[in-house]
Amino acid sequence: MEREGRTRRICRKCLTADMDEKKYFESLRAYIDAVDEDLKVGGPLYERRLAVCRECDLLADAMCRACGCYVEMRAVMKKNACPYGRWQASADGKN
Ligand code: SF4
Repeated sequence: MEREGRTRRICRKCLTADMDEKKYFESLRAYIDAVDEDLKVGGPLYERRLAVCRECDLLADAMCRACGCYVEMRAVMKKNACPYGRWQASADGKN
């Protein structure tokens, strides 16, 4: 269907329910690996952030119930912070 000259976008497998779970999580990890290194935190800080999330009662099925993000994707970015202040944004990606 076209509206006002715009072509309808065909979206395939947008819902996790339509995707193979293993492939879905592999694609998430590939996405994280492909993030520009300048935007990502270093490995030690990433692991510290994830350790906090692992102990958090808001973590469910790899997602944060406070923000709706996959925590591995949220925690990898320097600019991101925990919505409850349990870990903070980092200018240098180390602390
Ligand atoms: S981002 Fe914060 S609130 Fe969300 S799971 Fe991690 S520690 Fe918990």
